[in-house]
Amino acid sequence: MNPPAETANLAKRDESVDWTALRNEFPILRETVNGHPLVYLDNAASSQKPQQVIDTVRRYYEHDNANVHRGIHELSNRATEAYEGARQRVADYLNAGSPEEIIFTRGTTEGLNLVANTWALDNLRKGDTILLTEMEHHSNLVPWQILANRIGAKLDFIEVTDDDGQLDLQWLDEQLARARLLSLTHISNTMGTVNPVAEICTHARAAGVVTVVDAAQSAGHTTVDVQAIGCDFLAFSGHKTCGPTGIGVLYGRRELLEAMPPYQGGGEMISRVEYRDSTFNVVPHKFEAGTPNVAGAVGLHAALDYLDAIGREAIFEHDQRLAKRACERLAEIDGIRLFGPSEDRSGVVSFVLPDAHALDLATMADQKGVALRAGHHCNQPLLAKLGVAATARASFYFYNTEAEVDRFIEVLHDVRKLLV
Ligand code: PLP
Repeated sequence: MNPPAETANLAKRDESVDWTALRNEFPILRETVNGHPLVYLDNAASSQKPQQVIDTVRRYYEHDNANVHRGIHELSNRATEAYEGARQRVADYLNAGSPEEIIFTRGTTEGLNLVANTWALDNLRKGDTILLTEMEHHSNLVPWQILANRIGAKLDFIEVTDDDGQLDLQWLDEQLARARLLSLTHISNTMGTVNPVAEICTHARAAGVVTVVDAAQSAGHTTVDVQAIGCDFLAFSGHKTCGPTGIGVLYGRRELLEAMPPYQGGGEMISRVEYRDSTFNVVPHKFEAGTPNVAGAVGLHAALDYLDAIGREAIFEHDQRLAKRACERLAEIDGIRLFGPSEDRSGVVSFVLPDAHALDLATMADQKGVALRAGHHCNQPLLAKLGVAATARASFYFYNTEAEVDRFIEVLHDVRKLLV
């Protein structure tokens, strides 16, 4: 079997990280857009992929591709080894107790829907309360709404403070005392707030509340340790962590996974099938119906190797440094509204200008090669609470540079001159 990733050239990097060399490992960042060098600031939506990940996926298809778990032939064995190796790598990345606690999904959304349709459907009853926060992405809101409507459960929300986009935790214990399940995001995809998930999960555990963490915005940017957080479930997406699209991860505490019913039927999730009944496979296979995304898992393995070779703390510090520079430069614009905390935030920066609609701004920035996002960011209820229909969002990653922050600000000023 070929090695999962070309990580040999990635020496362990700490303060002396060569960010320019890293950036050069992303072929897409050499693109020009509308005649300008690409400035890609839409990393909260999806990250770009380094050559090592692209090569690993290509190599898998060129040398190892087959279906997993079913064959007695060499390629099937190689594919199975690569797929299960990726599961072990994810377990190490999250500091899970064992690879059996790692389920491959299509992404964060599927992971959250899986918990809603298995553990929650099996354990929650009419009148039970599901506790969420006001800053949840639609992927961590709509599945719970569907479930609540189906079984007659209630939704409650930890509020977001208006001034700095933090969770208002003063009523946490009272809210937990009424709840059976708490599902919350680690990092807000609109405001960049970093929630104290470990502290919140400690309170939830004391109250006997099952916890689900949406790590879509954190898993590729900072350390996510499921044992230190103390959560029961945690979900993230490969495509936001330098990995391929269509692959994601759900971590679940083993004893909960073992007691849960399956999510979908078919393929490897069975143990024995008769015409009128079936018995199910052991975890995690019980939750992986049908042929899995083997190439995606192999690519994710390479991506996690890549991120760890840089160092997740170094990545987060770099994100924060760029976001701070962007916030300082944006704050110089009269009448601008910046969302989220002023300190200890992630690399996600959302804003509204007094004189230019976010969508116009992003469209015109694209004309100059700057990729921003504008809209509700799948946070419609949060934006309604904040009193806006849309924000413009710049989100940074380790391959972005200070020069790109400055270019983004320069383009913003140019665009405003045209719009006002
Ligand atoms: N949760 C958060 C906080 C997100 O930012 C996103 C995507 O932007 C998701 C969930 C959904 O991720 P995916 O579309 O990869 O399933």
